Amino acid sequence: MKWFSSLGHLVLVLLAGALLGWYLGSAVAGALVAAVLMLLFSSYQAWLVEHWLRDSSQKLPDVHGHWADIVGHIYRQERHANTSIKQLQSTVDYLLDSFGAMRDGVVMLEDGDSIRWCNDAARKILGLRYPQDVGQAVTNLVRAPDFNAYIHAGEFREPLTFQVGGEHKVHLMLVATRFAEGDTLLFVRDISDRVNTERMRRDFVGNVSHELRTPLTVITGYLGTLLTDTSKLPPPYIRALEQMAGQAERMENLLKDLLWLTRIETTEREEKNEQVDIGSLLYELQDEMTNLHPDNPLQLQIDCSDRIQGDYRELYSAVSNLVINAYKYGRAGRPVLATWSREGDDYRLSVVDEGAGIDPLHIPRLTERFYRVDDSRSSATGGTGLGLAIVKHVAAAHAGRLEIKSTLGKGSTFTLVFPGRA
Ligand code: ADP
Repeated sequence: MKWFSSLGHLVLVLLAGALLGWYLGSAVAGALVAAVLMLLFSSYQAWLVEHWLRDSSQKLPDVHGHWADIVGHIYRQERHANTSIKQLQSTVDYLLDSFGAMRDGVVMLEDGDSIRWCNDAARKILGLRYPQDVGQAVTNLVRAPDFNAYIHAGEFREPLTFQVGGEHKVHLMLVATRFAEGDTLLFVRDISDRVNTERMRRDFVGNVSHELRTPLTVITGYLGTLLTDTSKLPPPYIRALEQMAGQAERMENLLKDLLWLTRIETTEREEKNEQVDIGSLLYELQDEMTNLHPDNPLQLQIDCSDRIQGDYRELYSAVSNLVINAYKYGRAGRPVLATWSREGDDYRLSVVDEGAGIDPLHIPRLTERFYRVDDSRSSATGGTGLGLAIVKHVAAAHAGRLEIKSTLGKGSTFTLVFPGRA
């Protein structure tokens, strides 16, 4: 329709020109002059529009017809785009403000590890400067090998804990998330207080256990001497002394486990360099179990000859805890089996028993210190309640994990899973 009305205008102007020309002597010349004038007018309007487009902050050009329509469209589109940009900017400002107010350090990285933005807390915690460090590789500015290796590996499934600083070390926890295309968001938290409290707790437990050992050794020594010849003792004394000796032995085991757990926790983050042959470890354990259970020796199924990097003593203690539990909580006379295999990328060391099994309710809490499914039964079997806590820490110290599967009435399978290293 618009096109028709423009055509109508053109025809009307040409007719008016022709009419005026006819009156003056030549209709054709009149029409021609009218056409040229129209062309000039249109060019002038185009020039106005072009001038406005160069700087659209100027007021709208005074144009007509088609040109007015074109200017109207452009103006509306620009206003729409401006509104969207403003909304986007206010969302970005809001996000940056909230990140800025966080007590955790936030760093945005682009192209792998180059800094795009960071908040105040990140500047303090990681010693970054903003905006001076924009575009710099964060791995050049944060001098912590663990941090650099973590960022370069780009494998962010687990958070990283690492240290920075010289004399006064600061313990940090880093959570990294990928977003957009290849950009990374880092959240860094100062966990020094937590780490120090944890270390104090560990030291305290370690020191108390150590200090209690000496008096306990004296007590058990005297009890042992008194019980070597009971002929001259009245019977009630004998019973009391035997009970004291039994409880003293329990306490000794408890202190031994506590000290061992403290040692494993302390060295958990250290690199384990031994090449451990799990097959031989299982044979050694089998010998030990044969002495304790000559009628029901530990059964083995060894499908893998690979060695794994680790600490032999720690691994031995973990597997022996699982095997001892399998005998303790298994059904008398039923076989206990230990298997060693490789499945895909993982190594798996399983201990299988045919005992009463564990209610799924308890499984998530089994590795907590002193957690017991049945207190009276565990105490009767002489357990310390620390066995599975030790197993869990040994697994963690070897970058592995403990999996527990159990069916009530059928038995349980405890599996240590270690990642295969290339
Ligand atoms: P404890 O010294 O009491 O055995 P652990 O940490 O070794 O302590 O085990 C924690 C609890 O888990 C045990 O008290 C027991 O109830 C349960 N448990 C461990 N192993 C088994 C198993 N093979 N079958 C059934 N229950 C088990």
